[in-house]
Amino acid sequence: MKVRFAPSPTGYLHIGGARTALFNWMYARSQGGTFILRIEDTDLTRSKPEFSDEILKGLEWLGLKWDEFYRQSERFAIYREYAEKLLQEGKAYNEGRAVILRMPEETVKLFDMIRGEIVFEPEALKDEVLMKSDGTPTYNFSCAVDDALMGITHVIRGEDHISNTPKQIQMYKALGLNVPKFAHLPLILGSDGTRMSKRTGAVAVSDYQAMGFLPEALVNYLMLLGWSPGDNQEVIKMDSALKKFSIKKINKAAAMFSMDKLKWINQQYIKQTAVERLVDLLVPFLKAKGFLGEQYDRQRLIQIVKLYQGRLATLTDFLERADYLFSEQIHFEPEARNQFLTPDKAPGFQRLSERLRRADPFDAVQTEKVFREVVEELGVESGALVHPVRVALTGKAVGLGLFETMTLLGKEKTITRLEQAFAK
Ligand code: GLU
Repeated sequence: MKVRFAPSPTGYLHIGGARTALFNWMYARSQGGTFILRIEDTDLTRSKPEFSDEILKGLEWLGLKWDEFYRQSERFAIYREYAEKLLQEGKAYNEGRAVILRMPEETVKLFDMIRGEIVFEPEALKDEVLMKSDGTPTYNFSCAVDDALMGITHVIRGEDHISNTPKQIQMYKALGLNVPKFAHLPLILGSDGTRMSKRTGAVAVSDYQAMGFLPEALVNYLMLLGWSPGDNQEVIKMDSALKKFSIKKINKAAAMFSMDKLKWINQQYIKQTAVERLVDLLVPFLKAKGFLGEQYDRQRLIQIVKLYQGRLATLTDFLERADYLFSEQIHFEPEARNQFLTPDKAPGFQRLSERLRRADPFDAVQTEKVFREVVEELGVESGALVHPVRVALTGKAVGLGLFETMTLLGKEKTITRLEQAFAK
């Protein structure tokens, strides 16, 4: 069997397109078939090479490798030849320079692998343009010619193409070529229940990459948009998903995109990822943010990432939670500052910073010991100082354990931040 993903490079790789690519790819991989990538760039004004590059990069990032690659703009001679054939056989006619298919007046039945039988009455089908007067083929014609010539056995695509399918079926028939099987995938709805669009959230795969989703987590989530491995399983490795995958099990009903669920799945993948790889994934984000230079202490980074790994829904969460470890300028959460950094804390901060100067080694055990002594001397509850000190050091009301935080910051930064806090 042979399937294809056939994007038009008139925009970015969309979440819906990525799911179509994924289901085609999974079907090919689960059946030992071939997965073709065909760039449908026949619309020369709307197609852009940068979109085409972006689509290829997106598929590569998701790990959806193709076995064969085509660009329709390199195949215009083939479409012209087939249009010519239909003209000669009287199945098409010219209108000016355009070539138009004479649509037979008959009912067309489509047996869809997901939706069952769909019947199109003859009134719904009009003569169809095959070649436009500018010499370029229409989508329906180049698509039908290619699916037939490339030996596509199953056309798996979005349900927005259902109305094109009877036209394409009549084109294969007119050309005397094999009609493939069809499966039309359900729509993906955004949070407001309408078709997913920029209005309701990010739609480009590259946006999800930039938000810090792991490709395997996004792939895992995309496969749940219309399909389910059963037993309420949500996190599933690709090899077991491939064993269970079947087109017939895809839902007819629209799938609802949930950012919360995607984040939850991403969090599970981040937890399971080896820390070394997680660091490799985080480094570009940290560099882009100016948190790391060309040279950096990888061992220290590994140590920090290990502490945060269990708490991250996305890679960019790390930038927000651990920013105080990478930049001199700490960003204070306004409520945390107002609540905890009040003038009455100054004496405690002062005493603590003086004592910490003598802590040696500056580790979690020693800093905790010093902290306990100071709290006792001041005669306050340790909670009365823990939270304010955390805010002074990190800018945040919640975070790692306080003594872990001090150790990661090191003696100088810990003391400087306490001094800066009581100076204010
Ligand atoms: N180029 C079409 C699109 O991007 C392909 C549809 C199909 O798979 O036939 O929507």
